[in-house]
Amino acid sequence: MDFQPTAEQAQFRDSVLAFSRKHLAAGARERAHKPEYPWDVARLMAKQGLLGITLAEADGGQGGSLMDAVIAIETVASVCPRSADVVQAGNFGPIRVLGEYGSPFQKTKFLKRLLSGEAVISVGMTEPEAGSAVTDLQTSATPDGDGFRINGTKVFTTHSAYAEVILAYVRFGPGVGGIGSVLIEKSAPGVRRGKPSTFMSGEEWAELHFDNVHVPGEMVLLREGGFKKQMAGFNVERIGNASRSLALGRYAFERARAWALERRQFGRLLAEFQGLQWKFADMKMQLDAAQLLLYRAAANADRGLPSAEETAIAKAYCNRAGFDVANEALQVMGALGYSQEELVEYCVRRCRGWMIAGGSIEILKNRIAESIFERSFPQRGG
Ligand SMILES: Cc1cc2nc3c(=O)[nH]c(=O)nc-3n(C[C@H](O)[C@H](O)[C@H](O)COP(=O)(O)OP(=O)(O)OC[C@H]3O[C@@H](n4cnc5c(N)ncnc54)[C@H](O)[C@@H]3O)c2cc1C
Repeated sequence: MDFQPTAEQAQFRDSVLAFSRKHLAAGARERAHKPEYPWDVARLMAKQGLLGITLAEADGGQGGSLMDAVIAIETVASVCPRSADVVQAGNFGPIRVLGEYGSPFQKTKFLKRLLSGEAVISVGMTEPEAGSAVTDLQTSATPDGDGFRINGTKVFTTHSAYAEVILAYVRFGPGVGGIGSVLIEKSAPGVRRGKPSTFMSGEEWAELHFDNVHVPGEMVLLREGGFKKQMAGFNVERIGNASRSLALGRYAFERARAWALERRQFGRLLAEFQGLQWKFADMKMQLDAAQLLLYRAAANADRGLPSAEETAIAKAYCNRAGFDVANEALQVMGALGYSQEELVEYCVRRCRGWMIAGGSIEILKNRIAESIFERSFPQRGG
């Protein structure tokens, strides 16, 4: 067992850090408060090889491991928390599911623009009546000529304001076995964006309505029976989500640590008060424990997909740790931490959302309990 990064990983981290300091440090605070996607950052990252890290070289990616992608996202976040979303979109989210299961036609059609930072892809799972109970989704795919007609509504979709294509979970037939997925272009007739809304994080989202949208057969990603595969790919998204939680918690921690060594009250540095030292000790223990769980899940995935159990444990723990640490860091910084002068309040708001997004902490704990007892616990009432 080795708890050190390899020489290659350390070198990669250094190069991402140098890139981030040079291109992302300036403007990090302004970027965090803009709801728009940072396209300039996406294009820079594409040139730097930070999009498609885990995608095959034949598909235009870098052929790296999940661990490489985790190193990239946490390093970028340590300099510019908002820019970490670009690493997420270009490596961990539906782009990875497309890379994993997409046909040559689908990859040729979409990956070039996605990997050049010109476009993003969203994943539409959640519906008004299907949140945690995602298998209750109702968006239907009905055969029509050479393809399908899609009808339904998706909510809370990240990047829905500007995504070029949506990887939508749809129902080809009844039950869990009837679920699959299709790629829907935003420009397709019948795709309609509803009233825009904003998350507590400042990110914008809008309802996505599919009114009899025609999807040709070649745009079906996974036919009925594809739900398990879809979720296996989604575990990568969860690793990116966990990485950002931890990284933003760490960002806030580092900022509070520096402040505690600078700010004086009662004639002493904040760092000299035991009441605050113990807060820092608790924060550090949470961060280190979360880091080990995250790296275990990522390292064990190697070039494949991470295990459901290790991912659930890592995400639930990192989500909690990230939020708790960022929140404590804010407390240590007093009114300054609560103010938009600093990015600490932003880290708290972002970390709060990840406790819900991508499988809430409660749902992940249900999954962990199933592993513990080696049986499934259906959540439906009788
Ligand atoms: C920032 C953000 C980004 C998101 N991005 C996307 C996206 O890109 N694409 C997408 O499809 N969706 C997205 N979502 C939606 C997200 O997947 C859902 O919010 C999530 O699955 C929970 O669904 P819900 O909000 O409807 O809550 P509900 O399912 O209504 O749950 C409400 C509460 O009850 C708890 N709960 C529910 N069932 C159980 C149970 N069986 N046991 C214990 N507790 C339970 C939940 O944990 C939660 O605390 C995003 C959400 C957020 C906050």
